[in-house]
Amino acid sequence: MTAGQAPQTAAPVRHRPRIARRPSITGSRIYWLVCTCGTTGREWFARGPAVEELERHIATLPRVPAGQECRDSKSHDRRDWEPCSLCAGQLALFDL
Ligand SMILES: [Zn+2]
Ligand SMILES: [Zn+2]
Repeated sequence: MTAGQAPQTAAPVRHRPRIARRPSITGSRIYWLVCTCGTTGREWFARGPAVEELERHIATLPRVPAGQECRDSKSHDRRDWEPCSLCAGQLALFDL
């Protein structure tokens, strides 16, 4: 099962939080935080508090070390809280 390709040296746990949504029995909507790291938030009858939990979750993530921030987050599929080895490698090249 682990005989595939070796994992990258970057943090193996990805955080891609989003707000999940489903109707409640009463017909109102229920919102909650779901993150790919396994974190789930409380259920709310409004989107606002769920978004606040999402933002708090992001705030708890470690800062990206200096020089590893992604400068092309769309092409590299990185979020603000994810270090980018591609950009870090390019910086190293520039330093030569
Ligand atoms: Zn997470
Ligand atoms: Zn990048």
